[in-house]
Amino acid sequence: MIIECPYCESKVDGIIKGEHETYGEHEDCPSKRVLLACPICNSSLLGLTEHWQIGNEEYKWSDAVRLWPEPDRVLSWELPDIVSISLNEAQKCFSSKAYIACAVMCGRALEGICKDFGTKHNNIAGGLKELLDREIIDKRIFDWGEALRIHRNIGAHASDVKISKVDASDLLDFALAICDYIYILRNKFESFMERRKGS
Ligand SMILES: [Zn+2]
Repeated sequence: MIIECPYCESKVDGIIKGEHETYGEHEDCPSKRVLLACPICNSSLLGLTEHWQIGNEEYKWSDAVRLWPEPDRVLSWELPDIVSISLNEAQKCFSSKAYIACAVMCGRALEGICKDFGTKHNNIAGGLKELLDREIIDKRIFDWGEALRIHRNIGAHASDVKISKVDASDLLDFALAICDYIYILRNKFESFMERRKGS
């Protein structure tokens, strides 16, 4: 069964080791969780496959969508393009082990947030401070943003300083969390409070 192996960084024909078929709530067609072994590196992979109708009475199981190891997060449509384009690039850089480039793209996403909110400062440092002053972010998010800004500067200027995999992973997590906070959770909370007012 075809599935993407994150270690081989390619699609592989996974060897089926076990499977469980079930109907999800409100689902007319069954789906299957499949435990697979990568035929190249022997890693364990867990995938989800769905039973698709391809003809009148004809069905086939789809390629497996990987559930574990956890795939890259799908970015929310609520993020503006000026932010999501950089975040998407940051994820690609991380997957390709380009950790300095990943840090730079995380910083670029931060710059995108400043532009989206029309901050007056041209640099990220000033923009971030303005977002804090305008209460768009709080102090903790500001600190995470500062960490991104500093590492973005390390990455953007030629030097012999390296950025480790674990640091790049953390920076990407901070960038995603900042975007969740600003574009998703704030809106969700505002809608939640609006509903309380109406009830
Ligand atoms: Zn593999």
